[in-house]
Amino acid sequence: MTKHNLLKNLLKTTIIFLTVVFLIPKIALAAEHYYLYPPVLHMVNGETSAPIIITDGNGNPVAGSINFISYNSSVMRVNNNSTDKVTITALQSETREGMGYSLSASVVVGGENYPLRQQLVVRILGNPLSFYTSAVGYQMVWKTHTAVYYPNSSINGQNNIQNYVVRDNLPNVLEWAYQIQSDITQAQTWDGEKQIYVVDFGEVLAPGEVAAGEGAPYPNDDNRRGSHVCGLSGMNPVRFGWNIRYNGWKNCFACEYGSHWSVYFHELGHNFMAHGVSVTMPSLKLVRQLSSYSEGLATYIGMQTSKKIMDNPATYPMDASPRNLLVNTYNNDKTNFKNDFNNWVAGGASISTTTTDSGSFNPNVVDGLLLTKEGERADFPDRFFKLLQPQYADQTNNLISSFGSTKERWHMLFAALTSAARGTDLYNEFRDTYHFPMDQYSTDYNNLYNNFKNILFAPPPMPIVTAI
Ligand SMILES: [Zn+2]
Repeated sequence: MTKHNLLKNLLKTTIIFLTVVFLIPKIALAAEHYYLYPPVLHMVNGETSAPIIITDGNGNPVAGSINFISYNSSVMRVNNNSTDKVTITALQSETREGMGYSLSASVVVGGENYPLRQQLVVRILGNPLSFYTSAVGYQMVWKTHTAVYYPNSSINGQNNIQNYVVRDNLPNVLEWAYQIQSDITQAQTWDGEKQIYVVDFGEVLAPGEVAAGEGAPYPNDDNRRGSHVCGLSGMNPVRFGWNIRYNGWKNCFACEYGSHWSVYFHELGHNFMAHGVSVTMPSLKLVRQLSSYSEGLATYIGMQTSKKIMDNPATYPMDASPRNLLVNTYNNDKTNFKNDFNNWVAGGASISTTTTDSGSFNPNVVDGLLLTKEGERADFPDRFFKLLQPQYADQTNNLISSFGSTKERWHMLFAALTSAARGTDLYNEFRDTYHFPMDQYSTDYNNLYNNFKNILFAPPPMPIVTAI
């Protein structure tokens, strides 16, 4: 090998090394993440669960002990004997509107203590699942960043969940969704612990049906009749409801036509926009102020997820039926949200600054506003979400640390984000057309807008290459 070739090879090695170094923050998972299996228990009062085991990130059992940190001992008992076999006994049925319990835990493996971000979900239902089906088997599919836990037998004779999961390639799509949202936010949820998705059974009562332990049927409120979950996030696992009683299609896991993509991507979006990411991002602070923003942003990042899948069929191949559902849902949502936004503007764009609500400025209006800006500038969403990335959190947090609960100032943050992402100062538009309370805190707006402009104009970080 000549000196020249050696140099060339060295240079190649250096470049490969640099590439690896820069990929690590996004693709590598921390070495030690452990999980509890199963991630959700469905029991009836008096029943004792099968043993709960510790697994690695591929579902392989790992020896160790489990310590549940918090649970209500009047509704369940943790049986933790010396043989490392941990079981749970249900002591009390959930109330009519119950949504189960989430148990935090840590595990000791190889003498070391590992706090888990995953929580064990315990449902204590009115009827055993065997009431609906003779045997309920489960399957857990592990992917790089995610895992899906679902029943692989039919429930209540209505339909077969597994058919949807297999037909719609659910574990793959949910993994793509994670990767897309991780890409958009440059973040990982739960410190790199895999994001688990589970099917969560619930019981919706029929009209006039009396819930267990109650003397009369519940009044006419269909949504609250029975204990069931639609989609629940802000935790690991994300839970998707499947109703096993009365109306089999009162589900968020799937509808008659297939998988509920928009629900999945929305719930995952909550975790990327808020509690799933350890860095205290400005988005978390914003969404804590107003549900219009927390729901609106979860939907908006969910819609970006759908759009990236729709626009890149070679990277994200799907069969016609689930793809059509994805496309139709996206298009319907887009039309509806933009209509809601236009109607809100036409109706006088009322925005309240009370601490409890924002008037008619609801999540759909927030999404309609963002989608309208996206229609004016195609890279708007990428720019918008870039401003919320953890790498820029500190510099923005410095500017909003004193905002407290003053709603005007949080609206200011949204206006500045939207302006910077749009690439033009929309101060007057927010004040005059959307009736945002701009003038009183205009200094906050200007500081934030300039900060966001700087973030977007900053060149991407370059690797430092020293001459060889
Ligand atoms: Zn939500």
